[in-house]
Amino acid sequence: MRAVRTRSQERILNLLKSIKQGISAQDIYVELRNRNQSMGLATVYRSLESLKLEGLVQVRTLGNGEALYNLAQQDKHHLTCLQCGASIPINQCPVHDLEGQLQSTHKFKIFYHTLEFFGLCTQCQLAQTAD
Ligand SMILES: [Zn+2]
Ligand SMILES: [Zn+2]
Repeated sequence: MRAVRTRSQERILNLLKSIKQGISAQDIYVELRNRNQSMGLATVYRSLESLKLEGLVQVRTLGNGEALYNLAQQDKHHLTCLQCGASIPINQCPVHDLEGQLQSTHKFKIFYHTLEFFGLCTQCQLAQTAD
């Protein structure tokens, strides 16, 4: 069964498709306004929530608590620096096969997974040793 999508949801999906990286709800709100597709912030949140439950959008929470949204198809993982907040994408998924296994052993329909690595980037390590 396919849920009926509202125009707000369509607009947000299109925006996420055109933006290759994660974006906060606040920034989605601003970006839609720039594109003359304004909607209230509450509508942005409500639409994101529905899209999330459909498995179309996924949320990633950064070290500073900010939530970033992106299309769920992107199986992307990041190295996040706790010092400067840099978010470095890695080009492999170490749990891709595990996901398939879990789907069959637990009969669970997995939309997406998250996996994040936290620490210090090269520059912040250098800055630390310089002290
Ligand atoms: Zn850093
Ligand atoms: Zn993955």
